[in-house]
Amino acid sequence: MTAAPILETLRRHGVTVRREGDRLKLKPATGNVPADVVELARAHKAELLAALPDSPDLRATLRRLAAAEGLPGALVDRLTDADLQPDNGAGLLSEEGLRRWLHVLNENARMRQGIAPPGWTQASHCRHCGPVLLWQGAPPVVLGCPWCHVRRAGGHLPHPAVTCATCTHQQPRPDSSEAGMHGCAQGHGLHFACERRACADWRPASNTSEISEAKP
Ligand code: SF4
Repeated sequence: MTAAPILETLRRHGVTVRREGDRLKLKPATGNVPADVVELARAHKAELLAALPDSPDLRATLRRLAAAEGLPGALVDRLTDADLQPDNGAGLLSEEGLRRWLHVLNENARMRQGIAPPGWTQASHCRHCGPVLLWQGAPPVVLGCPWCHVRRAGGHLPHPAVTCATCTHQQPRPDSSEAGMHGCAQGHGLHFACERRACADWRPASNTSEISEAKP
């Protein structure tokens, strides 16, 4: 049997097929690929592979690069065909650019799970997110930050451990030493000034004015 009648059958079922190396990729117009169509393509895989061009495929390239970089293949699986259209930018990237893009995607995916990128250990205050972990040297107070999109999507933010001693809301008590118990203008009671704790109202005591948006 030649590939032509098989391709015609797939077309009638609204299924497109493309070749990625020695693999066939079936894509339905809607829903799932019917089981008998999958079986037909599987039974005539050799004819289809011989008939279809093995065109360079961005998704296949990304899968190869992700595997080489030790990144999860799910990063590539989650990309839509629209993401990979040549005119949206990804198709214009070099292999090095694609590699970097995969690392950015991986970092974003980890941030959506509440995991800070490596080296993001500094506590800063975002006007919208509150205390957040940013990279060393980031501004102490920002109007927007890379965690904002995680918060907007309902994700978990890893709030840093902070101290009242570094907070603009701390209220030193006249009868207490610098490291002793301090009050809180936000109504959180008394705390040791240097005790590390998570506090959603922490805001660094800093003269630095807010910058519009923090980016690494
Ligand atoms: S707002 Fe939080 S960190 Fe700041 S002084 Fe009060 S308890 Fe401490």
